[in-house]
Amino acid sequence: MSGKPRILTGDTPTGRLHLGHWVGSVKRRVELQHTHDCYFIVANYHAFTTRSERSAEIRSDCLEIVRDYLAMGIDPDAATVFLQSEIPAIHELCFLFAMLLPFNRVMRNPTLKDEIKVKDLGETYSFGFPLYAVGQCSDILSFRPVGVPVGEDQVPHLEMTREVARRFNQVYCGVDEHAEDHDHAKLGGVFPVPRAEVGKVGRLVGIDGKNKMSKSLGNAIFISDPPKEVEKKVMKIFTGRQSPTEPGDVNNALFQYVEAFIPDAARVAELKDRYARGDNIGDGHVKKELAACLNDLLEPMRKRRAQFEGRDDLILDILRKGCARANETAEATLEAARKACNLHFFPRSIGYR
Ligand code: ATP
Ligand code: MG
Repeated sequence: MSGKPRILTGDTPTGRLHLGHWVGSVKRRVELQHTHDCYFIVANYHAFTTRSERSAEIRSDCLEIVRDYLAMGIDPDAATVFLQSEIPAIHELCFLFAMLLPFNRVMRNPTLKDEIKVKDLGETYSFGFPLYAVGQCSDILSFRPVGVPVGEDQVPHLEMTREVARRFNQVYCGVDEHAEDHDHAKLGGVFPVPRAEVGKVGRLVGIDGKNKMSKSLGNAIFISDPPKEVEKKVMKIFTGRQSPTEPGDVNNALFQYVEAFIPDAARVAELKDRYARGDNIGDGHVKKELAACLNDLLEPMRKRRAQFEGRDDLILDILRKGCARANETAEATLEAARKACNLHFFPRSIGYR
């Protein structure tokens, strides 16, 4: 795999994957998996930030997410799919990185603030909740990728990751504070300053027409939803439009889906034109066409997924191999970081029984 540019990205096991994951990140992963050295992390420690009392669910969601990856076309022989909890280097680097970020800087992270609001965490969130944002810096940097394909909501996390990488390289590796980001590695920095690579649809709205489609918000169409469920959910997409002759807003939630999922560009243009003019085209009509396209997209995924239903043994084999590969890479990063921090005492290796 060496020689290929490396990317890392992943998901928190807080439920099954949905269409937002597909357009925001996974579609890109499938495209890149044969030309890039790909690492896909199932961030199961991070699921404990909001569901620590439901560890059995987190465990089964890890396996479901890998099933969704396979359904969507991720090839575990090409890409390294692994569990965050099996990679000790990530958590050790997190501790070092936590020292390089001012507390108030972490709390100003807009994605964190937004999550506290939309997930209604109020004042009750744990100390560990904001720590996950630092953890995400080490999820990424442990693998020293050049790019991170993510949805728009992750850009603030990537900004923090870039800050930490620069800071580490400046404090421990003597990289000049005016150095260009792309020169950090060349100048002796342990970490590259990775880019966020946001896909064409960086934020797919949920069927509530309001919040980002999210596993935790009950507004998602899941990759594993059966055809009838997809139709039912599409019918619920909220637009607020009253009649087929009312000029419609082609920037509404429904049309975000039309643009993202109806593959025929000429048909999309025609639908937009008629909808905008209120040319006797009801929301129900557009929704029917959309649901058919979604089911066309999802059907091959359902078929692939079916091969792995009830086969936890296959999923665990994929993860065991992925974790072993991921540890090789992350241990090498940790060793370089420890050397830079004068923490390098004894060599070690990690294996599974
Ligand atoms: P949670 O509700 O637990 O935060 P989530 O649905 O936001 O779950 P994550 O695991 O946080 O999913 O995100 C995984 C990846 O998918 C990230 O790169 C994220 O930006 C992307 N993503 C998630 N939801 C969307 C969406 N609605 N549109 C585009 N990208 C998305
Ligand atoms: Mg999220």
